[in-house]
Amino acid sequence: MSLQPVNFHPHPATSALVATTDDVWPVQEVLALFELPFNDLLYRAQQVHRTHFDATEVELATLLSIKTGGCPEDCAYCPQAARYDTGVTAQKILPLATVLEAARAAKAHGATRFCMGAAWREPKDRDLEHVEEMVREVKALGLETCATLGMLGEGQAEKLKDAGLDYYNHNLDTAPEFYSKIITTRDYQNRLDTLGRVRGAGIKVCCGGIVGMGESRLQRAGLIAQLANIDPYPESVPVNHLVQVEGTPLHGLEALDPFEFVRTIAVARITMPRARVRLSAGRRQMDDAVQALCFLAGANSIFYGDKLLTTGNPDVEADNVLMDKLGLHARAVQQGQNNAMVCEAATAMPAGEPAHAGPAA
Ligand code: SF4
Repeated sequence: MSLQPVNFHPHPATSALVATTDDVWPVQEVLALFELPFNDLLYRAQQVHRTHFDATEVELATLLSIKTGGCPEDCAYCPQAARYDTGVTAQKILPLATVLEAARAAKAHGATRFCMGAAWREPKDRDLEHVEEMVREVKALGLETCATLGMLGEGQAEKLKDAGLDYYNHNLDTAPEFYSKIITTRDYQNRLDTLGRVRGAGIKVCCGGIVGMGESRLQRAGLIAQLANIDPYPESVPVNHLVQVEGTPLHGLEALDPFEFVRTIAVARITMPRARVRLSAGRRQMDDAVQALCFLAGANSIFYGDKLLTTGNPDVEADNVLMDKLGLHARAVQQGQNNAMVCEAATAMPAGEPAHAGPAA
C-alpha cells in the first residue's frame, strides 16, 4: 500500500509564516476571511460557489449507524463513548438486511450517497469483512457509498476500495492546538495517517470538523486552514455544529453564535471551492433562516433523514418543505457521476465523527 503524504501545519503561528501560494492557506489569511463584514464574506462565498456549482443544487446524503455505542475512545462531544453516561447502549453490528432496507429507503427519498458509521476506534479485520459486504450491496443499489469506521490500519483502505467504497469520512474535528482538549486517546497525526491511507487507496476523502466546542475563532480558522491545506483538499467537507448531549463533557457549554457558524461555512466554501460543503450535525438546533444563510454561504450538501447516528436531524418532510421554499433541488444520481468527480478532483485540487463525523457526523 502506498501511504500518501498529507500536509500538516501543526500550529497557526507556524502556518502564518508559510508563504502565500495558490494552494496554501496561512491561518492568518483564513482568520482574515472570518473577520470580513458578514455581507462581504457571504458575497465572496457566493461568487466562489457559483463559479463551481449550480447554486440551487443540494446533495442529499443519508447516514446510518451500523454499529452504535460502546466506543473506547474519549471524544468529549460523543454520546457513543462508553465512558460517558449518555443513555446510548452498545449494540452489535447491524445485519446486512437491515442496512440494505435503510439504503433502499434512503434512495427512495432522494438520497444519492449512503454513509455507514460505526463506533470503533478502528475496525478489526472480521468487522471490516461485514462492512465490505455492506459496501458491495449498497453500491449495487446505485448509491454512492461512504463509511466512517475510525482509524484504518495497513491494507484496510484497499479492502474497502476493492469493495467499491467511494468516500471515507474521517474528521480532523478541530484545530491541532485545541485537539487535546477534546480527545486524548489518539492524536492529530493518527487522523492524518488514516487520511493518507484513504488517499493512497484511491478513495475520496470526506473530512471536516465540529465547531462550537469552546474553541476560539482563531482555532476555527486553524481547523479550516488544516482542511484547505490537505493536498488535495477533501472532496467532501462536513461542518458540524456541536450537538450538546447530556452526560458528555461538552454538555452545558455556551452555544456558538449562529452567525459564526454561517461564517465557518462561508470560509470553508472560499478556501475549498470545489468541495461539497456539508451542513451536518446540529441542523435541528438551527431555524430555517440560519439554514438558508448556510446555503447562501455555500453549503451544498446535507445529511438527510431523521437521525445522525445517535442525535436527531430535521425530518425528511421538513427538509423538503425548506428546500421548496428556497427553490433548491436535490442533486440527481447521474450515470458516470463518479468518473466526473474523479476528473473534477484531479483537475481542481490545489487541496462524525459520526462515529467519526461529529456528534453525529
Ligand atoms: S466520535 Fe467516534 S471515535 Fe470518538 S468516541 Fe465517538 S464513536 Fe468513538
